[in-house]
Amino acid sequence: MRRPIIAANWKMNNLSDEVIRFFNEFGDTAISLKDREVVIAPAFPYLKMAADLAKGKNITVAAQDVYPEMEGAFTGMVGAKMLNDLGVGAVIIGHSERRHIFKESLELIRKKVTFVQNNGWKLIFCIGETLPERESGKLYDIIKEQIYTAFDGNLWCDTEKAVIAYEPVWAIGTGVVATPEQAAEMHAFVRKIMKERYNREETVILYGGSVKPDNIKGLMSCADIDGALVGGASLKACSFKKLVLY
Ligand code: PEP
Repeated sequence: MRRPIIAANWKMNNLSDEVIRFFNEFGDTAISLKDREVVIAPAFPYLKMAADLAKGKNITVAAQDVYPEMEGAFTGMVGAKMLNDLGVGAVIIGHSERRHIFKESLELIRKKVTFVQNNGWKLIFCIGETLPERESGKLYDIIKEQIYTAFDGNLWCDTEKAVIAYEPVWAIGTGVVATPEQAAEMHAFVRKIMKERYNREETVILYGGSVKPDNIKGLMSCADIDGALVGGASLKACSFKKLVLY
C-alpha cells in the first residue's frame, strides 16, 4: 500500500516569525490524517524550531540536504549527528538546485543516498530533466542515469523509506506545471524501473514542479502519482493546508 505524501520544501525561505505563524495557522490539520503523510523541510537554522512545533502534530520534519559525515572538520556543513539532535525524520537528496546550482555530482548524490539509509531517515530522492534534455529526446536516458547511479547496489532500506520525487527542472518555480499526462508518463516509467530493476513496485513517487492548490487534484488523480513535493505554494499555511487536504 503506497501512502501518499505531501511534502513542503521551504528552501531558503521562512524566517523564525514565519515558521511560528505557519505552525500556528496549520495547527492540527495533519493530526487525524491517517491516509497520507505530511512532511515539512525548513532551512537548517529553523529545523529545531520546526521539530518542536511539529511535535504531536503528525508531521515529519525533513532536512533539505545532509553532508555525508557524522561530524568533524567540514566548514559550513551539517552532518548526521546534528540532524539527529534536531529531530529530523527525512532528508531530501538530489534536488535539482543542489545538482545544478551547487554542481553536486552523481557520485556525491549516491554517497548521500547511502548515508541517509545508513542513518535510518526517510529518503526523498529527487530526479528530473532540464528543458534542453527533454527537447533533445534524452529525457528517459537522463532519468535512468540519475536512478541507476544512485540505487544500483545501493538500495536496501524498507520500501516506504525510499521515496522518489520526479521534478522536471523546467517546472520548478516557473509556474509551468507538467501536464498530468506528461507527469503520468514519467511516473509510469519510473515505476517500471523500480519494479523491474529493484523489485520495488510499491515505491512512493511524488511529483514536484509548480504544484498549487488549483492543480493538485488533477495530478493526484493519475495512477502513479503518490503525492507532491512543493516549493512556493508550501510557504504559507493557508496554501499548504489546501494541498494537504487536496
Ligand atoms: C521544489 O523546489 O521542489 C519545487 C517543486 O518548487 P515549486 O513548487 O516552487 O515549483
